[in-house]
Amino acid sequence: MRKILPETPLSPTAVLDTLQKMSADDIDWRRGRTPLYVFKTSGEVQQTARAAFNMYFDENALGARRAFASIQRMEADIVDIGLSLFNAPAEGAGFVTTGGTESIICAVKAARTASGEGKSERRRNLVVPETAHPAFRKAAELLCLEERRVPVAADYKADPAALADACDDDTIMIVASAPCFPYGVIDPIGEIGDFARSRGLWLHVDACVGGYLAPFARELGRDIPPFDFAVPGVISISADLHKYGYTPKPASTIFYRSADFAKLQRFDYPDCWPSGFYGTATIAGSRPGGAVAGAWATLHSLGHPGYLSATKELLDIVDGYIAGLKAIPGISIVGDPQLANIAFTHSDADMGRVATLLSERGWLSGMLSRPKALHLMMSFVHGIAREDYLRDVRECVAEVLRGSAAKSQEAIY
Ligand SMILES: *Cc1c(COP(=O)(O)O)cnc(C)c1O
Repeated sequence: MRKILPETPLSPTAVLDTLQKMSADDIDWRRGRTPLYVFKTSGEVQQTARAAFNMYFDENALGARRAFASIQRMEADIVDIGLSLFNAPAEGAGFVTTGGTESIICAVKAARTASGEGKSERRRNLVVPETAHPAFRKAAELLCLEERRVPVAADYKADPAALADACDDDTIMIVASAPCFPYGVIDPIGEIGDFARSRGLWLHVDACVGGYLAPFARELGRDIPPFDFAVPGVISISADLHKYGYTPKPASTIFYRSADFAKLQRFDYPDCWPSGFYGTATIAGSRPGGAVAGAWATLHSLGHPGYLSATKELLDIVDGYIAGLKAIPGISIVGDPQLANIAFTHSDADMGRVATLLSERGWLSGMLSRPKALHLMMSFVHGIAREDYLRDVRECVAEVLRGSAAKSQEAIY
């Protein structure tokens, strides 16, 4: 039967008890049982962010300009911090959004506007490596563009020559990732940037997953190639706060080399409706003030030293997993992941079956389809789970090699 509003409202205790009971069926993320969806910092920073979120529980970031100067101020600070991290020139500009998908749609909209409405009777297109996030396809569908997916090189990085070949007069944007989600590798953005500049093309760097990790990884001595505005051809960058910025959801950022590019993503509706001028910088209308406050609080509570030490701790966890996985006979890491997204496969065992056996032990598996592999987007919750995970992977692989009849799971995000 379809649910209706209860005639007898639930008491506060009943509400919370019910939620508690319902969550019993959820994945045990606090013990590191999911390879995606959740990120978390240390207790104190988390608590501060939560308090800040709740302080702005009721405020609407849509009203930042007219009603909530504090939210406008927080957004300006968040954007400035990102522009500094990504080596933006003085004219750089950006916005806070509700997620990577929205940041990407905004950038595609800006590039589409830049290309001139009606410039060509033919359908305009985006050229992206096959490893680019599906949000580009979503943006293309929404904005009536064609999306061209181009195979990557043997090291799973975008192939600049193949991208160049796929471009034509109707191309309005090319995309590179830092890193891509599936293989965790950073595309050769320097080379792609040269090509983009020589052809006058808009290059967007999707640093949704790596943006708030890569600068600190580099500072810690990791080999991180130039991926941001330091590369002259880069016009826009998306970077998610609610991933390795460790902020509460929903929060992401979108940046542009100049305010002139940035303003192309705006929607302004000057007349037409009886309530007068309506304008938003991003796709969403009403937005949670709490997410902005939570992001501001996290950035300021961690500060530069906090992000550095968080990155060090995280990369140590990743290294620990990689070493432990490689020690299992037959297992190899897919490609050469540069940050915290890793995938591994086995020379003989069907990883789809391994995933099913792991799920019977309470582990949700991320997967790749090419090659069939298990995938992890690592975060702090995985630290304590390492020994259990490695043991279970070892045992499940052995079971599959002994001829387990477990169903072979297909890759799903
Ligand atoms: C997560 C992710 C996105 C999309 O972000 P959402 O916040 O889930 O909308 C885009 N690109 C990459 C590389 C990502 O990892």
